Amino acid sequence: SSERARERGIAYYTPSIDSYSASRLTMVSALQKALVNNELALHLQPKLDLRTSRISGVEALIRWPAREQPVPADEIITLAEQTGLIKPLTRWVLEQSLELRSRLLDSGHLLDLSVNISPNNLREPDFPIFVKRLMGAHLQHRGAIIFEVTETSMMQDPVNALKALNSLAYEGIPVSIDDFGSGYSSLSYIKQLPASEIKIDRSLITDLATREEDRVIVQTTINMCHSLGYQVVAEGVEDEATADLLKGMGCDMIQGYFLSRPLPLEQMLAWLSKRREAVTKQHAPG
Ligand code: C2E
Ligand code: MG
Ligand code: MG
Ligand code: MG
Repeated sequence: SSERARERGIAYYTPSIDSYSASRLTMVSALQKALVNNELALHLQPKLDLRTSRISGVEALIRWPAREQPVPADEIITLAEQTGLIKPLTRWVLEQSLELRSRLLDSGHLLDLSVNISPNNLREPDFPIFVKRLMGAHLQHRGAIIFEVTETSMMQDPVNALKALNSLAYEGIPVSIDDFGSGYSSLSYIKQLPASEIKIDRSLITDLATREEDRVIVQTTINMCHSLGYQVVAEGVEDEATADLLKGMGCDMIQGYFLSRPLPLEQMLAWLSKRREAVTKQHAPG
């Protein structure tokens, strides 16, 4: 995909945006306006803990609802990264995430909230300071804010990425390695990461039920990550058979359309309440 290519540094453009630079410029200024006018949104996708059958957290994913033509999240991010908008955009995402976390808590849902961070953010000299100030003002016992960084993006600049992640971890921020297994990082690099969680890439999960090789790779990854002390999340789980397989393999958590697509806050609150009711009924005596 263009996202993968971008993350490997092979191609610094997204064809649908860059084929006409005039429309690209229009898009950049529209995105800038959307950011300033608070027209971007974060949708939430739940993460299920297979060991407890509880929802342990939600991931925030960027959306641009006002557009006639929906712009995919990775295109929004690519555009922002190419123009320097990624700095204010990520800061908005982080501030908004704290707001969402407290809205969830107000409705009785104490959940972790995962946010996606661009490798560009890790290169901002003042990023750790910004994070420290922002998070310092908000109590972490209200559910952690987990920072997700993709495996491939870190490999562009492994030494500095490691430094930045270490300073976040030092502030008590949990770090998660996103899209794991889609790149080429070495095991010696992986074991140095100050991460608490690894998310196995969707490409290894999609055909789990039908491909023996994928089951071997995923089982080995789960075992290796557990030995290194990481929690393991499987992304892109779309059916019950795959969820059952992963549970049998000792995977800790799953995310995917099988549970829910990413939803706006109000819909996620309704989904969470409905699920909580169903679980309570199941466990009621008689
Ligand atoms: P990601 O962080 O790996 O997020 C998972 C993507 O897979 C999301 O796509 C989600 O909607 C999709 N997904 C979840 N479950 C399933 C499933 O069962 N099947 C399929 N086919 N897809 C599933 P989305 O929202 O389009 O985001 C794409 C990527 O854009 C994200 O990948 C992340 O790397 C990036 N992104 C999204 N929001 C942000 C943000 O606020 N900041 C930054 N820096 N990146 C973001
Ligand atoms: Mg993610
Ligand atoms: Mg991912
Ligand atoms: Mg991704």
